[in-house]
Amino acid sequence: LCRPAAQRVDVRVVEETGSTNADLMAALPGLTGPRLLIARHQRAGRGRAGRPWQSRPGQSLTFSLAWKFERGLQALVGLPLAVGVTLAETLALFGAEVRLKWPNDLLLEGRKAAGILIESAAAGPGSWAVIGIGINLALDEETVAGLDRPVASLAPLAAIDQNLLMAALLSALAEMLEEFAQQGLAPFAARWNRLHAYAGQPVAILENGRALHEGIGVGVDEVGRFLIDTGAGRVAVMAGDVSLRPK
Ligand code: ATP
Repeated sequence: LCRPAAQRVDVRVVEETGSTNADLMAALPGLTGPRLLIARHQRAGRGRAGRPWQSRPGQSLTFSLAWKFERGLQALVGLPLAVGVTLAETLALFGAEVRLKWPNDLLLEGRKAAGILIESAAAGPGSWAVIGIGINLALDEETVAGLDRPVASLAPLAAIDQNLLMAALLSALAEMLEEFAQQGLAPFAARWNRLHAYAGQPVAILENGRALHEGIGVGVDEVGRFLIDTGAGRVAVMAGDVSLRPK
């Protein structure tokens, strides 16, 4: 099999910033290749739909990776799932066993422990993806109490050298991105389903707080749609601004 030559990633570390995703989105016009931006402290991290992502210096790992694709934006559908698989499999090597919640969360015992936010931009016939990742290493009680839902920290990761962790994540992500660019989500869908947090369990897909679909969570298909068995048949849901919840 012919593998593409590994791309050189320009790695930057800043002490503090608002949002690593916002910084990389703004930097895209000047980029010629992939760039990784790690912030020791991110003051105004974001989730989907502008929701806030909380992090604390020394208690969180926050970084974004900008990656150029030869194909257009449509080819990026499914990328959050491939990123989730890569993160979960890599974190497991360090003793943090997480499960995946469609489309973009990593859970420890049902509580959110890490999040993924992918933003994108067209670039001629191709596209850029900016992959933002926030991982809770050891959030203090005050931060946890200030959040609107139960969250978790990945304690085994807090105990290891952060450079080691970051290097492992970057090399796993770069390898995944080269494979995703060639083959899309197909090689990752079955791996995602093995890590699915709600496999075979009752779930609901919510839109603006209202249940759009209810049924048994089956998993994802090869393009990243979430499949629900409603009893009357299977429904395939696209990731838009909809949310998955256990019932
Ligand atoms: P969905 O369930 O649809 O994915 P979400 O509510 O999980 O939606 P995201 O955009 O993925 O939304 O993430 C933002 C949300 O994550 C915030 O509204 C907050 O509830 C939660 N959150 C913020 N910071 C953290 C954190 N450090 N750890 C865990 N959860 C957090």
